[in-house]
Formats: sequence, structure tokens, C-alpha cells
Amino acid sequence: MKPTTEKSLSCAIFGHNYIRSKTNIDHTAEFTCTHCDTVVLTDEHGNFDTNTVSNSQIKDTLKELYYLTRRFSKLKAS
Ligand SMILES: [Zn+2]
Repeated sequence: MKPTTEKSLSCAIFGHNYIRSKTNIDHTAEFTCTHCDTVVLTDEHGNFDTNTVSNSQIKDTLKELYYLTRRFSKLKAS
């Protein structure tokens, strides 16, 4: 079994692998990443609802995640 940190790293590099997990009555849908269980919502037009998080915030988070994962790998190796 692969550790969760490796899965999250692959999401950070290659992007999430979303599957539709829920469809709401108002035509919005919920997608869950099969790798890291990140949940995103789409609006009634099928677009990802990114109003809550700006792009720069996502980038910062991914960068943080990347460095965290590297640190964990080093700890495991030593
Ligand atoms: Zn993911």
C-alpha cells in the first residue's frame, strides 16, 4: 500500500483524478479525487466552482504540500 503523502504528491504534479460522487437536484455536482479524497463542487453549468479559493492560494497550497512530502520522504529514508 502506498502512503497517502505519495498519492497527494501525484495530485499536486499531475492534478486530481476526480470522479462524480454526488449530483444535486439543482444540477450542481460533487466530485471526489480518487487519490487524496479532495472534494470539489461544480456549478449548474458543469464548471468547477472556484469562487471560494483563488488560483494563487491553490498554488501556494500545492507548493507547501510538495515541500512537506519531500520532507517526509527524507525522514523515512534516514
Ligand atoms: Zn487528489
